[in-house]
Amino acid sequence: MKKLTGISASPGIAIGKPFLYIHEQPTVPRYDISDSEIDSEMDRFRAAVERASCELTDIREQSAGQVDADQLAIIDAHQLMAKDPEFENQILRRLTDDLMNVEWMLHTHEQELLDKLNKADSEALRERSSDLHDVTGRVLNQLLQRERFSLADLTEEVIVIAHDLMPSDAIVMNKDYVKGIAMDGGGPTSHTAILARSFEIPSVLGLTTVTRAVIDSDLIIVDGNHGVILIDPDAETCARYEQQITEWHQREVQLMRLNDLPAETKDGKLIALKANIEVPEEVDAVLSHGADGVGLYRSEFLFMSPGRLPSEEEQYRAYRSVIEAMPDKPVTIRTLDVGGDKVIPQLDGWEERNPILGWRAIRFCLSNRDVFRTQLRALLRAGRHGRLEIMFPMISGLEEMTEAFDFLAEVKKELKGEGVDVPNDLPIGIMIEVPSAAMVADVLARRSHFFSVGTNDLIQYTLAVDRGNERIAYLYEPFHPAVLRMLRLVIDSAHDTGIPVAMCGEMAGDPVATVLLLGLGLDEYSMSAGSIPEVKRIIRSTSVREAEEVVGAAMEMRSFKEVDRFIRRLMEERFGVSIG
Ligand code: PEP
Ligand code: MG
Repeated sequence: MKKLTGISASPGIAIGKPFLYIHEQPTVPRYDISDSEIDSEMDRFRAAVERASCELTDIREQSAGQVDADQLAIIDAHQLMAKDPEFENQILRRLTDDLMNVEWMLHTHEQELLDKLNKADSEALRERSSDLHDVTGRVLNQLLQRERFSLADLTEEVIVIAHDLMPSDAIVMNKDYVKGIAMDGGGPTSHTAILARSFEIPSVLGLTTVTRAVIDSDLIIVDGNHGVILIDPDAETCARYEQQITEWHQREVQLMRLNDLPAETKDGKLIALKANIEVPEEVDAVLSHGADGVGLYRSEFLFMSPGRLPSEEEQYRAYRSVIEAMPDKPVTIRTLDVGGDKVIPQLDGWEERNPILGWRAIRFCLSNRDVFRTQLRALLRAGRHGRLEIMFPMISGLEEMTEAFDFLAEVKKELKGEGVDVPNDLPIGIMIEVPSAAMVADVLARRSHFFSVGTNDLIQYTLAVDRGNERIAYLYEPFHPAVLRMLRLVIDSAHDTGIPVAMCGEMAGDPVATVLLLGLGLDEYSMSAGSIPEVKRIIRSTSVREAEEVVGAAMEMRSFKEVDRFIRRLMEERFGVSIG
């Protein structure tokens, strides 16, 4: 039996067969050919180019009307590159000179060109390298007849083992068959971790070597409560874990008894506990865990299915289905937050050196008005079916917020002009997840109806720690005094102006943080549905006065270690929170 320790990303225990999910770079075959084989190699090359070109035509047809002219131009440029007679001539020349198979010739041709492009002085030329890679990769895949396995096609229960599962892989995976996840990479607030929690799949990330360690193993235990993986456990260990699974379920059943009770402190303060969702299908879990609404619907996951962007009608139907499934309860839908680790293949026409600090979220939407307009139209139309609230991600200051609010007003006017019934009093809020927004929260609070603190990003940007990087995960510290001071500033600024503050980052669902956040004055917590009952239990067993005393003590401390130690001990001893 082997044991690996990583980062606990989603609680619970799973026992099962490992399934190694690795996208390897294709191994390009290399062999000699004779003169007489040049023609047949060229035939294979032309057929592969033809199939790659058909693929591009399909993508273009599916994207028309969904993406802007610049993005269509990229697809057109790829078509031209693939069918360029000079490209064909160069491959023929190489085949004739080197007498090696066409896959290898294509590969070396690409490598040489990439080398030249990357050394070019002109930025425009350097930028061509991703286009070149895309086109040659497409032709190479056709030559190798390579198809990627999708986790949607699983047919039996497994523990998925991956180097770095992308959120777009996780969103399509067959949730009935994925019992657990173990990954080499990833941090606790990476989007794969967030999805795993939403789908209640026990997961351990940041294991560094799990893909190597599980080779040839038959059984694996994922202990998401303690961030541990056991490979080929003995019978006694299995029995112990089976027992823990039974106890875990019993505890869940007990906690679910709180579903119909309010999250009210002992001194009578009512707190709203809402759920975060990524796909409309999660609404059932939201309702069954007694949520007071949806505090964050991450709309970008609607854009991640392969193929094309969702149309206005598709988006309208998805938003409406969530809003209608929550009668009388508010549903906060966040506009498209593309970028960072959330790659949307149909929109991902750009390469960035530093995507986390790059063209993300509201920045992307404000410069892609067609995509943004389509979404806002769908949202505004869906708004009349219930209690919708709209929220903009990654706002960094007043100008950006004003631009987003003004554009929403413009789209609203446009819809009204078309005779569409649009609600007049939709609450519009912003996420506070960029430190600059936190620092000017007093200014932003004057126009926003509410704030929702995105601690996943706020912590990442405040502490300069990539939230998805397992090597520096030890520095990703929600209880850092800098974070606590920032939270206090945001909450106080909002309250001074009379607007409420929600939190939808993962910190809101961490039971260790519940009392601290209550003491800071947070009005609303939004989290994976499965975390609601435990957070509710804690809120019901404390008072605002006690929570404020805890905050008073924590604010005196100078380092995150000090706060962390203090708060964990308190939550374990006083509130029975199990510390992993
Ligand atoms: C956050 O940053 O805290 C947040 C809720 O948004 P996301 O995790 O989707 O970036
Ligand atoms: Mg965020």
